[in-house]
Amino acid sequence: MEELLRRSEKLTTVGQLAAGVAHEIRNPLTTLRGFLQLQQEKKLLIPLHINLMLSELERINLIVSEFLILAKPQAVRFQQKDLRYILSDVISLLDSQAHLCGVQFESKLSEQPASVHCEENQLKQVFINIVKNAIEAMPVGGTILIEQYNDPDSVVIVITDEGEGISKEMLPKLGEPFFTNKETGTGLGLMISQRIIQAHKGSLEIKSEVGRGTEITIKIPSSGQAAPQESI
Ligand code: ADP
Ligand code: MG
Repeated sequence: MEELLRRSEKLTTVGQLAAGVAHEIRNPLTTLRGFLQLQQEKKLLIPLHINLMLSELERINLIVSEFLILAKPQAVRFQQKDLRYILSDVISLLDSQAHLCGVQFESKLSEQPASVHCEENQLKQVFINIVKNAIEAMPVGGTILIEQYNDPDSVVIVITDEGEGISKEMLPKLGEPFFTNKETGTGLGLMISQRIIQAHKGSLEIKSEVGRGTEITIKIPSSGQAAPQESI
């Protein structure tokens, strides 16, 4: 059975989000302080502790860098771009990572220009997040299909994987900050992606079936004119 989700209106406020980030960072900080105190008082640090400290630091680093993508309004510059080139860039960027995981990409992009008014780096971030999730959902490999076509008013992108899928119970939780089922996940990728798509006046829908895979459909309003040559 297919489950459909549309939730851009359910997004949390920035304030709640900041509180969440603070909370998530406090946990690894407490661990780090504990180990440092142990060292100060008893000189007991062993390589295992040092490894744990490094992974806690890496976790803080990940959370902060994902969060920064949202908190950089000065870097946001909307321009006319052809989405086909953004998608091709993302595919080549992730190709070697996919290959290592036994995953291959199949892309079907339209022959017509797919011009949208967008912040290129943010849209790239969205596609990177979604394709990475797809790769991570396919531990034994498979194919990720990346399709793009033009509707009368919008450019549509559909990313389909053959991964583990998402249960009906979990589906409503996606996009909540820090919801993750991965050991090293931050649970921020989808939430940030939804916010970026919302800022582009678009929509993001997730359909999934456990054991079969997940299909993510993004629609972004077309800008109605071809992207200038130098920008693609
Ligand atoms: P993270 O990848 O750090 O866990 P995300 O916000 O990107 O955070 O994703 C949140 C959760 O949504 C993931 O932990 C996973 O459980 C689920 N998820 C997202 N995309 C997929 C997918 N393509 N297939 C299966 N589960 C997914
Ligand atoms: Mg992710």
